[in-house]
Amino acid sequence: MNQLPNSIEARDIAFQLHSYTDARKHEDNGPLVIEKGDGIYVEDNNGKRYIEGMAGLWSVAVGFGEKRLVEAATRQMEKLPYYHTFSHRTHGPSVELAEKLISMAPVPMSKAYFTNSGSEANDTAIKLIWYRSNALGQPERKKIISRVRGYHGVTIASASLTGLPNNHRSFDLPIANILHTSSPHYHSMKKDGEIETDFAKRCAQDLEDMIRAEGPETIAAFFAEPVMGAGGVVIPPQGYWEAVQPILKKYDILFVADEVICGFGRTGNMFGTQTYNLEPDMMTLSKGISSSYLPMSALLVNEKVYGPMADESHKIGVWGHGYTASGHPVAAAVALENLKIIEERDLVGHVRDISPAFLRRLHSLGGHPLARESRGVGLIGAVEFAHEALSATPGALGGKINMAFQEQGLISRNMGDAMAFCPPLIITEKQVNEMFDIAESGIETIAKAL
Ligand code: PMP
Repeated sequence: MNQLPNSIEARDIAFQLHSYTDARKHEDNGPLVIEKGDGIYVEDNNGKRYIEGMAGLWSVAVGFGEKRLVEAATRQMEKLPYYHTFSHRTHGPSVELAEKLISMAPVPMSKAYFTNSGSEANDTAIKLIWYRSNALGQPERKKIISRVRGYHGVTIASASLTGLPNNHRSFDLPIANILHTSSPHYHSMKKDGEIETDFAKRCAQDLEDMIRAEGPETIAAFFAEPVMGAGGVVIPPQGYWEAVQPILKKYDILFVADEVICGFGRTGNMFGTQTYNLEPDMMTLSKGISSSYLPMSALLVNEKVYGPMADESHKIGVWGHGYTASGHPVAAAVALENLKIIEERDLVGHVRDISPAFLRRLHSLGGHPLARESRGVGLIGAVEFAHEALSATPGALGGKINMAFQEQGLISRNMGDAMAFCPPLIITEKQVNEMFDIAESGIETIAKAL
């Protein structure tokens, strides 16, 4: 690390508080400074290049350095850099993006509401659900079920939905009325000899047992990612969604599909909802919507949600909710151009074409003696590693592998001892091989050192 007092590293340590970081460790180790990016690569301030194997934070679908997004932002900046959507006001880019998303939605959706992050989209979804229950004269229907290992964000309500200990510990979370049903991770949760379809049925049974124990009339909604991302890339076990969805219908529970990672091609269809035949009442979208070039997220709601909510807002005289930057025109213009690129270049078809090569290399890495399991779909996957010398400290092995990958030119992310792979959707087969060649070499380095 550059120790000079005026270096960007020293100033970062001095002034910036980092997300998902051990602050004291950061004071000692400092940051990795990323300076530029092109395609699937980024470069640090020493000129070292890396494959961005995580597409930033599962998000830079069209790759880094896409000029069309820069031009779309510039055009909109020059025309109207800011306007809002409060109090009956609107502007072209937000209308166009809303219309586009409703037309893309794989199930009938009525309205799009814009937010600026996945957390805000999920937070807004919770507020809307509560508002709707009150509108329907069912004030007792407020409980929300999500899943252990699910990830839905970090605001007070969305962090409560998130089913990961680090998002609750020392934050006094989760808040009341948020419940977590079992994680659908077959590999770690199955009983001895339990086949995958039986495990899936047991998960669904756990959900139904929870609903009945709490009282079905008190349960408003179920939140889930089609494929769990940050909780470890958990691919739903066979038969899972087929077993879960009828239960939601049986008890008239709203289904919110968190498509923040899966949306816009990641699983080989435009939405994870299509990959798993889901019928959500609401969808939350972010990340790939704008390839994260600018903050943008959206909540799509169907008529079942919109109708009562609209009536209630009419009764009160206002829906008292809104962010200054909801539907920001520059972010909306960038999102529209990004979606145009995804469609024009058929990136969803590309994901389907490239996925077999990606999964072949992922599962081949999963055959390494240090690996325990590999899992993936489309262009998202993870390999779980374990070693007895480090088994007392979960995440210690993952941390070492993460550093080895980084040293060898691959940015990945360890979720505990699982390494995630989620490259930009534009990755070529040659680059998939390049990525996994580095990963294999990184694992060999660690294996030799252990
Ligand atoms: N939902 C999912 C599925 C996510 O992966 C994330 C972010 N990783 C979020 C919600 C929260 O998004 P944000 O970080 O933009 O608040």
